[in-house]
Amino acid sequence: MNNSLSHILNHLGEDREQGYDAVVPPIVQSGNFTYPTVAAMRAVVQQEMDKPLYTRGFNPTVGILRKKIAALEHAEDALVFSSGSAAIASAVLSFVKAGDHIVCVHKPYSWTKKLLAELLPRFGVEHTFVDGTDAENYRRAIKPNTTFFMLESPNSLTFELQDLATVAAIAKEHGIITLCDNSFNSPLFQNPIDHGIDLVAHSATKYINGHSDVVAGVLAGSHAHMRQVMQKEFMTLGACPSPHDAWLLMRGLRTLELRVHRSADSAEKVATYLAAHAKVKRVYWPGLPDHPQHALAKKQMKRVAGLMSIELDAPDEAAVERFCDNLKTFLIAVSWGGYESLQWPVCALKGPSGYYTDLPFTMVRLYIGLEDPELLIADLKQALARV
Ligand SMILES: *Cc1c(COP(=O)(O)O)cnc(C)c1O
Repeated sequence: MNNSLSHILNHLGEDREQGYDAVVPPIVQSGNFTYPTVAAMRAVVQQEMDKPLYTRGFNPTVGILRKKIAALEHAEDALVFSSGSAAIASAVLSFVKAGDHIVCVHKPYSWTKKLLAELLPRFGVEHTFVDGTDAENYRRAIKPNTTFFMLESPNSLTFELQDLATVAAIAKEHGIITLCDNSFNSPLFQNPIDHGIDLVAHSATKYINGHSDVVAGVLAGSHAHMRQVMQKEFMTLGACPSPHDAWLLMRGLRTLELRVHRSADSAEKVATYLAAHAKVKRVYWPGLPDHPQHALAKKQMKRVAGLMSIELDAPDEAAVERFCDNLKTFLIAVSWGGYESLQWPVCALKGPSGYYTDLPFTMVRLYIGLEDPELLIADLKQALARV
């Protein structure tokens, strides 16, 4: 069972005899590596992607993690970055040039939006944001210079899905490269490559690490695509992870299966409770049977993970704040995917930044962590009574 999930999480890539037969792989906290001869060095320089020369390129601890991520995403290879945003930006930059056009799902992760809307136009790369709930909108937005499709299914605020297989097929017809931000699903609940997507990115800060103590990102795809990103953007922009962070990510992976199922189980209970509550106008979570894209979710995702948004039936921002301030187990914080439940009120981030102005002030994103779900529901109940 060499590609079973438990083999990947517990053993894959860990040549224990190379690390004193220690059960846990060593943290090779070294920036550079030495060779007995010039010939030995010369041989490694030719294989900088997979052999230790300099840690910005390859590091043995990071190398173990790369093998696990690739296997989890059904990819040939993977790269690890110092953040999810670095993984996404490096991938997009690697496949576009001045004069190209990108089609991206609307309401993507905020810094993906900034990359497309603010950074790339400075270098002559244009974009169109489309409503991805209709895959044909990707086809309609294609121009002669379209080279890249960006997907995020579902996105992490309004949880809209894109039909991965259909969008991938449209892209293939036109020789367009596809990238899906798969952070929401973790590699366990959806594998975009199986649906024909070329590149998969994760903010490993979220479920992959799972303990709210590391910021990191991963990118998975074919050997050829990973080599291209590695030789250009990965090495040039230099957003490599520290070996210690890679080791922490590996430690997080040991419990990935337990964590994401616990989070999803509890999310189902919480979403069902909230959907029936009079003070909740709407629950954005594709796992609910009456979600407009529930059928698509069942088709392309194995399960629906533990992040959702709600719209409160609140008269004003003060009522939203009363709800949020009275929640005790849901910490007020950005990010998600750790052990702790979180709340992220849209009204806290609206305004000067100019982001999220298209979202209702009554919206609160909830991340369902590993606590007892009955405790979370009781907490929501008492806070909703104050709306
Ligand atoms: C957090 C997040 C990112 C960015 O990842 P960082 O690790 O914070 O750079 C990208 N996409 C999604 C969906 C995210 O939640």
